[in-house]
Amino acid sequence: MTEPQILYKSLHPSLYTLADDGRSLNFHFARCSHCGGLSFPANAPGCMHCGAVIEEADKLLLPGEGTLLECVTLHVALVPGMPTPSIAGDILLAEGVVEEGVIAVSDESVLKPGMRLKAVAEMEPGEGVYACRFVPMQEEVSQ
Ligand SMILES: [Zn+2]
Repeated sequence: MTEPQILYKSLHPSLYTLADDGRSLNFHFARCSHCGGLSFPANAPGCMHCGAVIEEADKLLLPGEGTLLECVTLHVALVPGMPTPSIAGDILLAEGVVEEGVIAVSDESVLKPGMRLKAVAEMEPGEGVYACRFVPMQEEVSQ
């Protein structure tokens, strides 16, 4: 018994791709052959750390996860169709690599700077694509 499989496409194929578990996202990074630093996205014009040409860098697919630096609740849609309120955060993906992401929680009070987040796919069936959302890594929260 197999369910009919719908093939979703990444909304931003150069940034992320669906992991084997069908929910998590892997991010495309480049590791600089000059300084060893990670850059994101992998198609950046140059190394984010030393400026070396990124085409000579190793391309890496790494689990999409990071550390929350700060977040803010948005009450105005930044793009058409964006649900409000929604929570945007600055997320440290790797040393020196900070990206802004949408965090899929109902209330920002559950979020604390320094907590680990992971990227998951949010399927948009009407569009046939998946977008990137961050959720807390609950299994690592120990109180
Ligand atoms: Zn470099």
